[in-house]
Amino acid sequence: MLNKNLERIEKDNTFSLVNKKLKAFKLANPNIKIVSLGIGDVSKPICKPVVDAMHKAVDDLGDIKTFSGYGNYYGLEELRETILKNDYKGFDFSLDEVYVSDGAKTDSTSILELFDKDVKVLLGNPLYPIYKNGCLALSKSIEEVPLNEEYKLAVPSKHYDIIYLCSPNNPIGNAYTYGELKKWIKYALTNKSIILFDNVYEPFISSKDVPHSIYEINGAKKCAIEFRSFSKKASFTGLRCSYFIIPKQIAKNVNYYWKERTLNRFNGASYVAQIGAIATYSKEAKRIQKQNIKEYKANAKYLKKSFTKLGFEVIGGDDAPFMWVKIKEKSWDYFDFCLKKLNVVVIPGVIFGSNGEHHIRISALGKIEDSKIAIERFKEYYEKQA
Ligand code: PLP
Repeated sequence: MLNKNLERIEKDNTFSLVNKKLKAFKLANPNIKIVSLGIGDVSKPICKPVVDAMHKAVDDLGDIKTFSGYGNYYGLEELRETILKNDYKGFDFSLDEVYVSDGAKTDSTSILELFDKDVKVLLGNPLYPIYKNGCLALSKSIEEVPLNEEYKLAVPSKHYDIIYLCSPNNPIGNAYTYGELKKWIKYALTNKSIILFDNVYEPFISSKDVPHSIYEINGAKKCAIEFRSFSKKASFTGLRCSYFIIPKQIAKNVNYYWKERTLNRFNGASYVAQIGAIATYSKEAKRIQKQNIKEYKANAKYLKKSFTKLGFEVIGGDDAPFMWVKIKEKSWDYFDFCLKKLNVVVIPGVIFGSNGEHHIRISALGKIEDSKIAIERFKEYYEKQA
């Protein structure tokens, strides 16, 4: 009776095992200070202009004259207008092409509900594991393909219906260039495929050859759905609010059917979170959020330089808050070593797919003070070994 694919969802190589091991170590060693380079969560709070707007939204809900209830299935109009005006200026999208929801984790997998179970989904290995698990939970047929030498998914020679592209990428921390995305759009148009483009790390892009939206590429409106989130840019990881674009030009009436699906399966994101999301676009909020990203990026630069100096090969970190570090050891063994010997948390690469073996992911979303302590511990250990 149960969906048999659920049994295929990874149970051993998971973030929850990282947390379980960490919890057990902390319990056994309460006096040891552990620092984390694994953290995928943010280390900055939601900024004051946004918090103030949400306080007011709470008060509005407490008065029937200003109360807001059911009906905003696709997101508050003011928020969708603000998103289009700020993030998609010049792209000529209409309000009914933008959807607001409670997180890109939900959105990037819920979209699969529209498609038949026989669709063939292409995934890179390694990759953000939620796409694969979402496909399995929704009974889609998947194919995982190793990344190329540049740690990117190369355009395939055979047909796939749906392709997940994550750029800037988690876990590698690199991003697809204009040239690479042009090839993907050409492939998708030729094969009548749909690209699910996860762009949640867009605020971290600084390379000139990396587009801030897939819609900068000609033809993308006909074949790509782009996901974004307030999680990392505005510290909404606990609050929850996200948005995505389904262009009306996409074939198979995807936009129409998503509207229908949403009406029947979703009552909209939280009102308070959406009012907060509108406030993230105020001048002062933008200034603070920009500064936060600048600090995360400085942390990434520091970590990349330090690990490279220690002799590791490090990928990413320039357009994303993550770095992919090559190691000789198996990734769980190295995780255990870092935790027990250095008291530093890193993420085993194998969590992101079998080809993540012999790699770890490190994150710059933590505090730079913690990064400095971690690097000192690595340095001390490796200098003693030399
Ligand atoms: N997409 C990627 C690639 C992520 O790394 C994450 C979170 O770590 C998410 C989506 C989830 O975003 P949200 O908090 O909006 O659900």
